Amino acid sequence: MSHEWDAGRLDSELQNAGFDTLAVRAGQRRGPEAEHGEALFLTSSYVFRSAADAAACFAGDAPGNVYSRYMNPTVRTFEERIAALEGAEQAVATSSGMAAILAMVMSLCSAGDHILVSRSVFGATVTLFEKYFKRFGVEVDYVTLADTQAWQAACKPNTRLFFVESPSNPLAELVDIAALAEVAHQQGALLAVDNCFCTPALQKPVELGADIVIHSATKYIDGQGRCLGGVVAGRSEQMKEVVGFLRTAGPTLSPFNAWVFLKGLETLRLRMQAHCASALQLATWLEQQDGIEKVYYAGLPTHPQHELAKQQQTGFGAVVSFEVSGGKAAAWRFIDATRLMSITANLGDAKTTITHPATTTHGRWTPEARAEAGIQDNLIRVAVGLEEVADIQTDLALGLAAVRP
Ligand SMILES: *Cc1c(COP(=O)(O)O)cnc(C)c1O
Repeated sequence: MSHEWDAGRLDSELQNAGFDTLAVRAGQRRGPEAEHGEALFLTSSYVFRSAADAAACFAGDAPGNVYSRYMNPTVRTFEERIAALEGAEQAVATSSGMAAILAMVMSLCSAGDHILVSRSVFGATVTLFEKYFKRFGVEVDYVTLADTQAWQAACKPNTRLFFVESPSNPLAELVDIAALAEVAHQQGALLAVDNCFCTPALQKPVELGADIVIHSATKYIDGQGRCLGGVVAGRSEQMKEVVGFLRTAGPTLSPFNAWVFLKGLETLRLRMQAHCASALQLATWLEQQDGIEKVYYAGLPTHPQHELAKQQQTGFGAVVSFEVSGGKAAAWRFIDATRLMSITANLGDAKTTITHPATTTHGRWTPEARAEAGIQDNLIRVAVGLEEVADIQTDLALGLAAVRP
């Protein structure tokens, strides 16, 4: 057999391919230059062969590209690759993770709809629901993530959407996604899962019964802290509404960022595996140290949802949170005593990051809301990167020495 190819799709042979093969090759098309890597189409518009051709493309009667707010070949490759990895019918790329949540709600919900959100979601997500969606007549209530009965009890006849992050940030709580999907579907609601912390390398919400997957591609999909982007994935029935909103409103993904994410996806599982191995090692070590009151990591047998995590994830992720003895002052001393880790709220980077949630990511919450979510003043969150694990541990030991009296 030779390697003859026509310009066009290269992935028609990938139906039965494994995750790593899809991560490297799904969605790629080859152009007339016979390029090996995915081409980067930095173009805002496309040309037509004639006025009639333009009319047909604009009308959707012919398949040609029109304008990069509508479609872009590099972005499309990224969308097809993510859909293949998540096991979703279709994926739609957005300019950020927040734009993905915005596009999902704007395209699938209307004034008068009721949305249930897990209590412990990303800070900006809460602000989006509380300050903006509510203004347009959408009702929003918050439910404790792990308690599926509470979700059922909080449903109303107009409940349209469940929105969760599992595992949650920063405390690594989980929900049984299959059980929650059943509750949502009994209600006629859709279940959306923000899969940012796990990525499809560790968890596939669609296969567990969720209807929609949300990503901040800014995190592990990029993996090296370079670009912002997001994804909404799910069934074509819903995704065509999301595409309609994005084309009109405009928070679409830059082709340059899509190209960077394609490179990120090629190493996604290898990176996640390395992140998880280091995180487990450090969480285990931290749990044994004086000065540490509690460690939150689903990979630890002491985590109350360790068994569920083993069932629905193939790894435990790279975010390790812990409480130190001595309150906020001690937490700040810990952070300031480290030398290697970056003090920043970002995560999903090769560089390990350390942050104090109560005064940064959750700083705008009321003290009562923080208490209810279990985010104490002595909590520190570390997003374990890809440095030598011994060096990260040495750095954590510097922090610990500053906490101990
Ligand atoms: C970062 C993050 C977001 C928002 O993504 P951006 O790309 O920063 O807009 C949403 N959900 C989770 C869980 C995140 O960590």
